Amino acid sequence: MTHYREFFAQNWPLLQQAALYRPDPNLTFGNPAFEAAGFRALIVRLSPFRDVDRSTPHLFLFQAVRRALPDAYIDMAFFPPQYDRERFLVAGVPLLVGTQSWRGIEDFDVVLISNAYTLELINLPYLLRNSGAPLLAGKRNSRYPPIILGGSNAMAAQVIVTESGDCVADALFFGEGEREVETLVRVLAEYAALPKHERLMQAAVSVTGLWIANGPSDQHVKKAVCADPSVADLLTDYPLLDSSEAATAKLQINYGCPAFCTFCFGGYERKPHHELPMEAILAAARQLKQQQGPDEVDLYSFNFNTHADILALLLALNRLYDRVSFKSQRVDVLATLPGLLEAEVAADKRSFTLGVEGISRRTRAFLHKSLADAEIESVLARLLRQKIREIKPFYILTGHEMEADLDEFCDFVSRLKALRQRTNRGVRIIFSFGLLVRMPFTPLRHDRLFLDEAEWRQVIAPAKSACETNGFEFRLAVEWNEYAASQVLALGGH
Ligand code: SF4
Repeated sequence: MTHYREFFAQNWPLLQQAALYRPDPNLTFGNPAFEAAGFRALIVRLSPFRDVDRSTPHLFLFQAVRRALPDAYIDMAFFPPQYDRERFLVAGVPLLVGTQSWRGIEDFDVVLISNAYTLELINLPYLLRNSGAPLLAGKRNSRYPPIILGGSNAMAAQVIVTESGDCVADALFFGEGEREVETLVRVLAEYAALPKHERLMQAAVSVTGLWIANGPSDQHVKKAVCADPSVADLLTDYPLLDSSEAATAKLQINYGCPAFCTFCFGGYERKPHHELPMEAILAAARQLKQQQGPDEVDLYSFNFNTHADILALLLALNRLYDRVSFKSQRVDVLATLPGLLEAEVAADKRSFTLGVEGISRRTRAFLHKSLADAEIESVLARLLRQKIREIKPFYILTGHEMEADLDEFCDFVSRLKALRQRTNRGVRIIFSFGLLVRMPFTPLRHDRLFLDEAEWRQVIAPAKSACETNGFEFRLAVEWNEYAASQVLALGGH
């Protein structure tokens, strides 16, 4: 077993992710001594901690492993930011290194990777190469543990699979991990004596949604769906990591989304939509408050406001927590559900992100976003009457925009300028734009791709000009090179 204790003992305060590598053990992990543990799992995020500290997949995986194997040693690794990477590489420290144990992947029994979005996948071969591990499962011998990749982008991860069925990961997991991850690690621990490939094949017998690299050519894998989520499936047992997010509890209230926007990978991949009963959510909220004592709870959901009991839920959660926060929500629900907008402001929400998506009726129809002009404008008018700080309308440019679409958008922005001048000049309005990445499993996978930067400039420039000449801020959510890389990774095939 190799550890990098000496390097971290001397250098941890100098690192950008210093707090993660502190030498005193983080007792909230509840780990036994590394050498004494019967099973050791490394949970990996493909992004730096500062970019994922608000998200939950690493915490979810921790809970699943801890519940399945209470005596396991569980560690976490995050993609090191550039400053730390440079220091690791100079000192010969692998980039894939546990933040708690300061050990490389060879010392673990399984590596569980959560891949949240397509572009992140580019970091996986880079991490393996700079950890001394061969890039393909078929080339990694028994020195290396099974590397299993799941997460919300797993169904779009074909770029890491070769045409012959080899893969950068040893296995891919598709679907919802509730209960399945527990079974997976239990089987891997139980069959520890078997060679790696046989152990994984054994796991595939018991786990729905597990695809094995270099497995039989007739492998049929069904996506795992947690059809009857209960309070036991919610995230309540996880370690506290050193970030301001430690004071905020995360609470999932539904799975997937009921809508079918043509561009939305999550909307198609995370089906069927099902919501947790209000009683189960409140039971988990009470448990979190008792165990972790946070002041704030953050509701996690694709669209929190589609939950059937959302108003009653907000009221009950506000009695338990000082602050209830939530991010994504549907504008049409906000427009039509009486009292919801006002209840959110009463719950101290001051910043509203509104997913409008298409810049015109025609492009919204193309994106299958059933949102009428009147709904958008009535929500904006009501928001501008409230004491709020900012509104962030979010749009997606498709590349298909024509002059008439851009004219319609200009007219809308001018009307909004007049409305703000009449009602609430102090509210900051930031127009944010993404570029449409055509994703697998969505209807738009058949659409043409726009991989010439010049074509995008023709739609980005007038949209930016419309916002800025009317006194609003304009943000482009992605750089061109990131967009192009994401699109090629998503639909470029093997
Ligand atoms: S964009 Fe939003 S509303 Fe549409 S399918 Fe995706 S999550 Fe649902």
